[in-house]
Amino acid sequence: MRIESQENNYSKGENETLSLSIVTGANRGIGLELARQLTGRGTTVLATCRRASDELRHVGCEIFEGLDVTSDDALGKLAASIKNETVHLLINNAGILTRETLEDLDWARMRREFEVNALGPLRTTKALLANLRSGSKVAIVSSRVGSLADNSSGGNYGYRMSKAAVNMAGVNLAHDLRSREIPVVLLHPGYVRTDLTGGHGNTDTTTSARGLLERIDETTMERSGTFWHAEGYELPW
Ligand code: NDP
Repeated sequence: MRIESQENNYSKGENETLSLSIVTGANRGIGLELARQLTGRGTTVLATCRRASDELRHVGCEIFEGLDVTSDDALGKLAASIKNETVHLLINNAGILTRETLEDLDWARMRREFEVNALGPLRTTKALLANLRSGSKVAIVSSRVGSLADNSSGGNYGYRMSKAAVNMAGVNLAHDLRSREIPVVLLHPGYVRTDLTGGHGNTDTTTSARGLLERIDETTMERSGTFWHAEGYELPW
């Protein structure tokens, strides 16, 4: 369901298409802060979530509720609600972490991580393909723990595997969307204090989101298909 924010007073003519930024998983954590900072830039933001939080309702952006990124049905409703509007920026941020060790491998949990973290961004991007036009950007909030080269500790099987898989999806999308001049960038937000980390981390959502948006700003067709830390350095695969 798309909720028009009372604080968002944009208008459009009948044939005019609006430039939208979409953030998934925007009710809390990094996604909430991305929605807040993008809105602060004056961008038209459609923040998607399964259920809107009070914090998100206070951001002043538009909200699309009921969007589980594993649901084709929900994604179809999102696409229908934005009609022919151009999605200038799509940030695939929604993700889960369930921490499987070798001693405690839970296949159902791992499959769920794969559905949300790996297939979720691909499903979402696919659902919005018609709204992505030349100059639009696609960002995927992955994690450096999905890097094979950067893996020095093991553990977290489902999370690592799902983030490695989404990195591949991102590089594939970069190839497949190149002829349409749509760059795709993979991003690591840092170790951020959110629910996902149980409040642990060495940075906050404000700093992380600022860095992520700077990396997105820097994303060009030449950079498409690369992997960046929010702090501004490139990560290995
Ligand atoms: P949070 O747990 O704070 O937020 C996760 C968000 O994802 C919530 O909005 C949640 O919505 C949403 N979400 C989860 N499952 C689904 C789903 N099936 N459909 C739609 N939305 C869903 O985590 P962070 O803000 O920390 O994480 C954001 C992204 O950053 C994730 O992709 C994560 O993997 C990545 N990341 C985070 C790091 C960190 O240190 N925090 C480090 C590396 C990567 P709901 O409230 O409905 O559950």
